[in-house]
Amino acid sequence: MTLIKFLGGCREVGRSAVLIESKNGAQCILDYGVRFKGEERLPSNGEINNLKAIALSHCHIDHSGGIPLLYKNKDIPLFTNPLTLRISEILLEDMIKISKYPYPFGYRELQKTRKNALFLKNNVRQKIAENFFITFFDAGHIPGSVSILVEVDNRRILYTGDINTQETNLIPPANPLELPEIDVLIIESTYAPREHPLRIDLEKKFITDTLNIIENGGNVLVPAFGVARSQEILMTLEKYNFKSDIFIDGLARKILTEYSQFPDSMKDFAKYRAAMRQAKLVSKEWRRKLKKGTKGLIISPSGMLKGGAALEYIPTFLNDPNSAVFLVGYQVEGTPGRKLIDDRIFEFKEDKKQKYVSYDLSIKAKCKIDYYDFSSHADKIHLNNYINDITFRNEDKFIFCVHGDEKSTTSFAHDLTKRNFNSVAPETGEIYKI
Ligand SMILES: [Zn+2]
Ligand SMILES: [Zn+2]
Repeated sequence: MTLIKFLGGCREVGRSAVLIESKNGAQCILDYGVRFKGEERLPSNGEINNLKAIALSHCHIDHSGGIPLLYKNKDIPLFTNPLTLRISEILLEDMIKISKYPYPFGYRELQKTRKNALFLKNNVRQKIAENFFITFFDAGHIPGSVSILVEVDNRRILYTGDINTQETNLIPPANPLELPEIDVLIIESTYAPREHPLRIDLEKKFITDTLNIIENGGNVLVPAFGVARSQEILMTLEKYNFKSDIFIDGLARKILTEYSQFPDSMKDFAKYRAAMRQAKLVSKEWRRKLKKGTKGLIISPSGMLKGGAALEYIPTFLNDPNSAVFLVGYQVEGTPGRKLIDDRIFEFKEDKKQKYVSYDLSIKAKCKIDYYDFSSHADKIHLNNYINDITFRNEDKFIFCVHGDEKSTTSFAHDLTKRNFNSVAPETGEIYKI
């Protein structure tokens, strides 16, 4: 019997981890992330006793954050690619440095993780144990992201990781038609009940609104996730020939430079370079000047205004009726970004561990506030199209819906059952025999 054990990322977004065990007892872990809230932030214990390999879909902390724990006293190959390894290192170092949660690992385990990394190119089949193989396929989510095909005991399991099948400016989309026939699908469900606006319409609205603000003498602050989203916004501005000054700060600036080391991961590296030339990389000294005011647009993390360099700029922007704060990513309930959209009030409590601020903020916004859904996840339509494009080898058609909240995963599984799939939203700790 082949076993699939769900260690996390079930009916939640966070701590994604799946353990696959062959009938000989050889084990492979797909992702090993952390979550950002609650008492237990790591994946559940899955009796990991014969681990042959770990495969990482992408660098986001909800997929990579717990990996160093697996290197406490073992050496196991970590299959990834150079870009994902590099950005994971940056994010993990950051997490270890600033997190108040007592993760049971640190820099030593992170170093061991790095030493055990083996690079696997997409579409190349890699043996990890007897009758046990993995293959990476482009996932279209962020640069370096992959879906993982596991071939074990002559069964084919596809773990999508996070996927996007919509065209973006930074990377090519996932293409399910390039996948072989499979037996089991483990699919993300983040936006399973929702639809995103059409990308091209969204881009045009964002650009028009931005130009309106600038032409009326205002400035625009774009708080954006440092990894991928900030660079996507920069590429969008470049695509529409945006001519005012663009400043890029914090983690967004660092990742912008890192990505330039991996030209093959970008959809069009010449355009990426052109976009990079438009951006002014903000130094600490510049930041001091920019805080007092400037002309143009600033892209700066964090995306939900929970920290990062964006906090330095936000008071000036909020108090200027001519300016705007344009949020470009999903705002989780309870975050300062969400409150700003819902109530037009920015609230931030003092936190000494936060690098950039040492004060309490509660500011009523006088400026324009708007939200643009530049998602990097497939929505309801695209998830269903993805499934339609997949060929199952037999009538069982197993689909496990993971990586989404309770409602997203269970309603997605329910809808798929009605379409004659053997579909379920597993719970953390559950084991399935296939
Ligand atoms: Zn992700
Ligand atoms: Zn994720």
